Amino acid sequence: MTQDNGFLTWTLANEWHAAALAPVKLANGTQVDVWDSGVIVFTPPNPNRCDIILSCAVHGDETAPIELCSELIERLRSGLLTSSSRIMFLIANPAAINVGRRFVEENMNRLFSGAHSAGPGLVNKERERTKKIESYVARFFNEGADALHCDTEQPRERLHYDMHTAIRDSTHEKFAIYPYQNGQPYKTRQLQLLKAMGVPVILLHDGPTTTFSYFSVNEFGANAFTLELGKVRPFGQNDMSRFASVQTMLEGLITDTLEFDQFDSDDVLIYQVLRSINRTKEDFELNFPDNVANFTEFPLGYDLARDGELTYPVEVEGESVVFPNANVALGQRALLTVIAIPTESLDLV
Ligand SMILES: [Zn+2]
Repeated sequence: MTQDNGFLTWTLANEWHAAALAPVKLANGTQVDVWDSGVIVFTPPNPNRCDIILSCAVHGDETAPIELCSELIERLRSGLLTSSSRIMFLIANPAAINVGRRFVEENMNRLFSGAHSAGPGLVNKERERTKKIESYVARFFNEGADALHCDTEQPRERLHYDMHTAIRDSTHEKFAIYPYQNGQPYKTRQLQLLKAMGVPVILLHDGPTTTFSYFSVNEFGANAFTLELGKVRPFGQNDMSRFASVQTMLEGLITDTLEFDQFDSDDVLIYQVLRSINRTKEDFELNFPDNVANFTEFPLGYDLARDGELTYPVEVEGESVVFPNANVALGQRALLTVIAIPTESLDLV
């Protein structure tokens, strides 16, 4: 990023100064606090009952969401945009951004829900930072509940969008991962918000994970999502017009000006996980090109993968592949297969 990118760049490059920065009061009464490098909280004088976290750069080379957050931060700081909600921007991995890589030592999106301290413990920057991020999320959501006379009849709503861009192409350019809900129903309003963002394709995760979005679901009952917003480009080379619908919807959310029509089940396309194919042998291969797009569908009987002697033919009409990676360690997931299901079959409230 260049120096022209403003306040966010400044907080990323000036870790110590950022942490020591005194709160600033904007002309519209909103307070701006910098809790740490890339951790910025806006508190309006009379916040509504929705607390919003927008996070990006859990993977440091996923540039477009950082540019999007930077733009929103600048608009809020300059008063062009006035937030109705408490809102926290969380730029997850400044160390990886500063070297232009996905991560420095470890994939941060496998380190949440305490995984940062498991195994070898807090042995690297990603693990230390993940632990801190968990504490910032807790502080942000808990301060909202404590300080603002939380009404049990009408509890505060917690929203968290963790924004990513993908390494590979995707049949569906933008899609959301709806984390495991611990058996609780899915929310119609959340599907409407995703649709309004231009993210009408939703993959339901079928179990607990160590991702950032599941952490917010599991520990804070937040409506939290991992958003995949398109393919990675270097800073300054992202076609930001492709993110216009996301930005417009986020601005509507921040200013509390969104209105929706009646939900139509045809508005969204829902996928559920069929199976996870793990690599158990050194002699392992995927039977399609490395750059195949996410959500590519293969014909019935087609051998998707070979693990030693074992083959994995397509079992169900419509079985599609996501996140293929033949080069994972033994015992790890090399491929997930998914299938579209009718929206009506969801447990929706
Ligand atoms: Zn990512």
